[in-house]
Amino acid sequence: MISLDEARQHVLERVRVADSIRTPLAEAAGLVLAADVIAAETVPPFDNTAMDGFAVVASDTDQAPVTLEVVGTVAAGAAADRSMTTGQAMRIMTGAPMPPGADAVVMVERTEFDEVAGTVAVEVTVPAGNHVRGAGEDVRPGDLLFAAGTTLGAGHLGVLASVGVDTVDVIPRPVVGVVSTGDELVDDGRPLAPGEIRDSNRRTLLTLVEESGFEAVDLGLARDNEPDIEAAFRAGAERCDAVLSSGGVSMGAFDYVKVVLDRIGEMRWMQIAIKPAKPFAFGLVGDTPIFGLPGNPVSSMVSYELFARPALRKMAGRPSLGPITRQGISDDPLGRHDDGKTHFLRVDGGPDAAGRWHVRKLGGQGSHQLTAMARATALAIVPDQVDIQAGDEVEIIPLGTVGT
Ligand code: AMP
Ligand code: MG
Repeated sequence: MISLDEARQHVLERVRVADSIRTPLAEAAGLVLAADVIAAETVPPFDNTAMDGFAVVASDTDQAPVTLEVVGTVAAGAAADRSMTTGQAMRIMTGAPMPPGADAVVMVERTEFDEVAGTVAVEVTVPAGNHVRGAGEDVRPGDLLFAAGTTLGAGHLGVLASVGVDTVDVIPRPVVGVVSTGDELVDDGRPLAPGEIRDSNRRTLLTLVEESGFEAVDLGLARDNEPDIEAAFRAGAERCDAVLSSGGVSMGAFDYVKVVLDRIGEMRWMQIAIKPAKPFAFGLVGDTPIFGLPGNPVSSMVSYELFARPALRKMAGRPSLGPITRQGISDDPLGRHDDGKTHFLRVDGGPDAAGRWHVRKLGGQGSHQLTAMARATALAIVPDQVDIQAGDEVEIIPLGTVGT
């Protein structure tokens, strides 16, 4: 058996960040910038008002209340058709450019407009610059907006739109093929014959891939024979940036995954000192990374979290690879084991009012018992020979959206 760290390092050293592509902003959410973005435009592009009200010369309001002549109106989206000077005011709407000659805005609530007389009474004294948003207060040409390595979220994309950027250099999301292997598997809803079970891993893994922000490709079901398995892996290596398979990586007599991958690729077959997910294989077919996940449903998910997700995150250029762990309190005894392995227990729970995670052990901890994994909000990490009792601290890996 090798350690979790050794296995993880082995995998992470052998995947590389994908080559960047240029992509429209509309398709860039969640992707990582491959190059710095420097602003070429000014935001706001012009001095404008933050309030509905009246543009004035601030010094005219020194002796407020004061009555000023209203010489025009400026709406958002238009420029003033004239300039103004002392003794004058212009009606102005939020976002409209400041008319030449004005240096402050009085909010409409502090004014009394007399439309008939064409005047406005200003009730307050305002300083120069009052409610004026200066050109370039957010962005100036030449500003480094976002550095390479930034994961683009809603705010980032909004800023890029604000400076007229419509394409960005990003690391593409990996296209990840998922194949199930096994003669016992049924995926078409028909009644089960003796010895058959339904294929659940493919649905789980395809979903994990999508949840992680990558593109999933269903490579179907490969039977336990060499031609089927070879065809599936060759198709995956051709079409995808990485392939996840489940099943056929342990010690079974009909594990042709091993036979095929040793022939068409370069693989390392590992036994890792963890439970579940002890058997795991990683290697390359051509230059496509192949993750040979164990067949047991819980094991395949845990293996994905520990090895595949971090490696795929690296390929996608993500700055942190995970899994992200944190400290929690176990409200249940988690027991002690002496088998030389690190155990990952399915637990539920979450943060209390103080933000401290409390977790409880779920029933059904077998690696074939997927319901506990589905209900789990975290995996509790129980090292070898450590006895975790109720109330003790325990390191956890939050799952699902918390863990992405
Ligand atoms: P294997 O590694 O192929 O020996 O499979 C280990 C266990 O996982 C066996 O009990 C398989 O029936 C089960 N298994 C393998 N693939 C799947 C799958 N796609 N969905 C559900 N169970 C599976
Ligand atoms: Mg099998």
